[in-house]
Parts: sequence; structure tokens; C-alpha cells
Amino acid sequence: MSVPFLDLKKSNSRYEDEIRASIGRVIDSGWYLLGDEVERFEWEFSEYIGIDYTIGVASGLDALTIILKAYRTLGQLQEGDEVIVPANTFIASILAITNNDLRPVLVEPDEDTFNIDPDLIEEKITNRTRAIMLVHLYGQNAYNEKIGKLCQQYDLKLIEDAAQAHGACYKDQRIGSIGDAAGFSFYPGKNLGAMGDAGAICTNDQELAECCRSLGNYGGTSKYRYKYKGFNSRMDEIQAAVLRVKLKGLDTANQRRREVADFYIRNISNPKVKLPVLKADNSIRNDSSHVWHLFVVRVQNRDRFIDYLEENEIAASTHYPVAPNQQEGYPELSDLNLPVTEKLHRQVVSLPMSPVLEEKSMQKVHKVIANYA
Ligand SMILES: *Cc1c(COP(=O)(O)O)cnc(C)c1O
Repeated sequence: MSVPFLDLKKSNSRYEDEIRASIGRVIDSGWYLLGDEVERFEWEFSEYIGIDYTIGVASGLDALTIILKAYRTLGQLQEGDEVIVPANTFIASILAITNNDLRPVLVEPDEDTFNIDPDLIEEKITNRTRAIMLVHLYGQNAYNEKIGKLCQQYDLKLIEDAAQAHGACYKDQRIGSIGDAAGFSFYPGKNLGAMGDAGAICTNDQELAECCRSLGNYGGTSKYRYKYKGFNSRMDEIQAAVLRVKLKGLDTANQRRREVADFYIRNISNPKVKLPVLKADNSIRNDSSHVWHLFVVRVQNRDRFIDYLEENEIAASTHYPVAPNQQEGYPELSDLNLPVTEKLHRQVVSLPMSPVLEEKSMQKVHKVIANYA
């Protein structure tokens, strides 16, 4: 029996009848962009996150890029301003910054949480720092009061990259409602995934929301009237129809992911495989601060471990194999010395994780890893 990393077909088959009916409704309507489905999804997602405005866009990268572009357009960020971002994030968080002629300032993560180390932020703040891009990596909340205080003290915008954390919480607030604005991705493999590319911006700031909506629609404010230089980045009706169905199952799916994580943490025990670190009193099943987009372990000899899993028909993955500062596309970051980030990028391995991972697959992962020598 082979264990897939993520079986999207099976994951979506739970909703298949409803999704087919919803897509059929869009086809029958003859209206494919900027219609009812997107508008309704935006309302439903705002309600779910607990925020005033949601703007559907074409991808997660676009969501983050447009938020920063809106701040540039509204004169709240200037070319060359610095944005603090975790050094071990997915490349899109950094692309959104550099796409806007802003400067990413990379901060090392806490190696237990994989999220930005709150204690290392203040020393990176300069008189050009204007924002923090807070990435809730692997599905775990990255916010704490210390970060909130720094934002107040230094008057920094807090932008959440919530692309991996749909439904996660900080205390009783949803991720995506904590900062000044948040970007979500609905890439098919995310906790809330479309059947193609899609993304959303969430904010309580009306002026920002209006600017983002306009920027995603060429910078127009009414038909053929362009107030800004914008993009074409809109969520299409079919994706919104799919997402409306799947949003209703998101909490259940996240709970299922927690059960998988709980199983792994209780059962996997091999000194060569370092499990995610959790606070001592944590009951994973009840902990809403993590939605386990990925279950990431650390090993010394990654290639060997992944080969071993593959020989045993278990598909693992790596998020991510190369640190942003070591990417060819970012020569300007290549002089940075980021030992924690670089070490994590050498060691991380993502184990099979999804809401439809079967008990016997989880057992197999556990047993195969127990025999890894
Ligand atoms: C997926 C992802 C993005 C980008 O989303 P897309 O929809 O693929 O453009 C941004 N940031 C993080 C952390 C992601 O995981």
C-alpha cells in the first residue's frame, strides 16, 4: 500500500456532488467574472474570518502584492521602505515585497515553531521600516503580543501572509483578522483550496479595501474610468462557487488534520526524527492555533530519509529545499548570513498530511519511521 503526500482528488470527492452542482449553476448563469458567486463568497469568508472586507483576487501572491501596492498607491509606503519578513518563508511573501520596490528585511525563525523569532525583530527595525509581513508558516499562528507592541511602538503596518493558515486562531480571533490586512491563497493544495488559482485580501480598513478592489480590476473605480495603475487579478465565478462549498467543511477538515498531527506526535518516536515542538500542556486536538497545513519534521540526512520513505512507498515532500537568500533570483540577498534558516532548509521534511489521510496510512508512516536506522 502506498501513501500519497496529498490526495487532492480524494480530498475534493467529499464535496463532489455539491461542487458539480455549483459549477453547473455558474455555467447556466452565463456570468463568469465579477458576479454573484464571488460576492457571496466574499461575504461568507468575511463572516468566517471575522472581518469587514474580503476582496477575491487571482492568487495568494496577488493578494499580498496588491495589499502592498495599495499602501504604495495611498502614499503610506514609499519606494525603498523596509518590510520585515521571516527568512524561511515561501518565496511569494518576498516577491510581494520586491514587486513593489520595497526592501525585504529577513529575520531568522524560532527553530521550534518555524515562525519568525519575535525576539529578533526589534534589532532589525530602522528608520525606513514600515511594515511586518507575518507569515503563519505550516498553518501555525505566528502572532504574539510582543509583535503587536512593536507594531504600535514603531508605527508599523502588520500584514499577515495567511496562505497556509485558513481557520487557525490567535486566542479567539481568526488568523487574517489580526493585522492591518491579510493575504490568503486558495491554491488547490491549501487548507481551503480551489480548483485552480485564487486568493483573497482581508481587512477592516475601508480605504485600503476600496483601493485593493480597484487595483485588482485595472485600477478602475467605475467602468472604463481608471483612478490607479492596476492589475487584472480577479477571482473567477467558478472558483468562488467551489470555495463556497468547501468553506463549509473547513473547520471539520482542519479538525481532521489535527487528529493526524496528534497521531503522529503520539506515535512517531525515533531519535533520528525531530517532531514539531509543542508547548508542554498542549492538547493538539483542541489547539486552534495550528491547522497543520504541513506536518514538518527535521532529520540530519534528508536525502537518505526521503529515499528510505520512498522505498517504502511513502511520499514525502520538502517545504522548502532552498532558502530564499540562496535562490538564484535573489542575488541581492546572497550575502546574508542566516544560519538557522539555512539549517532548517537542509533538514525539513513534510510527512503525508491531509484531511482524508486514512488510519492505515498513518499507521504505516508510524511503523516505517520506527524502523528508520
Ligand atoms: C501558497 C503561498 C503563497 C502564494 O499563494 P499562491 O496562491 O500560490 O500565489 C504565499 N505565501 C505562502 C506562505 C504560501 O504558502
